[in-house]
Amino acid sequence: MRFIADFHIHSKYSRATSKDMDLEALDKWAKIKGIKVLGTGDFTHPQWLKNLKEKLEPAEPGLYKLKKNDQGTRFILTAEISCIYSKNNRVRKIHIIVFSPSFEICEKINTQLGWIGNLKSDGRPILGLDAKELAKIVLNTSQECLVVPAHIWTPWFSMFGSKSGFDSIEECFEDYSKYIYAGETGLSSDPAMNWRISNLDKIALISNSDAHSPRKIGREANVFDTELSYSAIAEAIKSKDPAKFLSTIEFFPEEGKYHYDGHRNCNIVLSPKESKKYNNICPNCGKPLTLGVLNRVEELADREEGAKPEKTTPFKSLIPLEEIIANALGQGVATKGVAREYDNLIKEFKDEFEILLNVPQKNLEQASLAEIAEGIIRVRQGKVSLEPGYDGVYGKIKIFSKGEQKEISKQKTLF
Ligand SMILES: [Zn+2]
Ligand SMILES: [Zn+2]
Ligand SMILES: [Zn+2]
Repeated sequence: MRFIADFHIHSKYSRATSKDMDLEALDKWAKIKGIKVLGTGDFTHPQWLKNLKEKLEPAEPGLYKLKKNDQGTRFILTAEISCIYSKNNRVRKIHIIVFSPSFEICEKINTQLGWIGNLKSDGRPILGLDAKELAKIVLNTSQECLVVPAHIWTPWFSMFGSKSGFDSIEECFEDYSKYIYAGETGLSSDPAMNWRISNLDKIALISNSDAHSPRKIGREANVFDTELSYSAIAEAIKSKDPAKFLSTIEFFPEEGKYHYDGHRNCNIVLSPKESKKYNNICPNCGKPLTLGVLNRVEELADREEGAKPEKTTPFKSLIPLEEIIANALGQGVATKGVAREYDNLIKEFKDEFEILLNVPQKNLEQASLAEIAEGIIRVRQGKVSLEPGYDGVYGKIKIFSKGEQKEISKQKTLF
């Protein structure tokens, strides 16, 4: 069965998340987006885990669904842990995603992590624990678990981050490196950027939304063709079998918050080349720049731009439908006009991914405005211009030049 999966999200028990992040909203929005398998996130949090156990029941092996909701979203038990520790005389801050095949295994992991730190304070707990030790605890609890470094390039909290990361999987996980089967590319990098680092050749590159609110789920995702079960999904990731792990769906990496270098407060945005000219020092305040993902990729790359290793998983870059509509209408994403057009399209076609990826232009035009249909097609073709994000500021997308939307709409009414 062909399906789309998003493994990394956060519940309402994580800091800075929407209070709507409960199971009913997740189930509903997963359907709207076209996601069949959704990570629960936050299984380390006692309250969220209690919630999961009360409201979910087993579906296919290792997957769960809301009670009495046979057609509903399948949930897979996942959590993210923030490991903060010192290694080789440097402070390390690394986020790790853990996949668990059952509630029983979640509880065993939670018991052990509870000895190290407080799991109640945050859905994504901060533990004074070496990432390698975390891998050891998790994998000694169950070999079926997956340990996946999260958003591996973000400067502050990741395996390769410029501020507190490492230079290789081995430096981070040592003898546990061979059990690291995947890494999450994060919003600010796409697989092509990661292909330049041969150290990543052996692992699968997966993509998830890291959503903090229901509307953001699926903004990055993975496409599989396997039976629906925990072990089939884990096996597809581990093997990178192109017949089973078909592709990933990506942001344009420029849209992510840490693509370029800069200082948000100083209003300074620089490409890696420009930063080099300034010796990575902010020309405004004189402090070290926040070096983004592209810069860090350049630093660790042992292949030229455009290089492609032997075994890769294909990917497609997309822009969320609400942003395309906002661009077409020349309005903000959170406006009534955008919501109306969005709901209208979802009602007409199956789900957001169907609209973004498959519905023919003609059908889009019949159901919506010509400029919205044109916007969707342009995104499919990669015809967009982007202002890169930097130091925590999201990048900006432009699909149309000024006033062009009106022209498109006029032409369509004429003919
Ligand atoms: Zn994280
Ligand atoms: Zn996260
Ligand atoms: Zn500055």
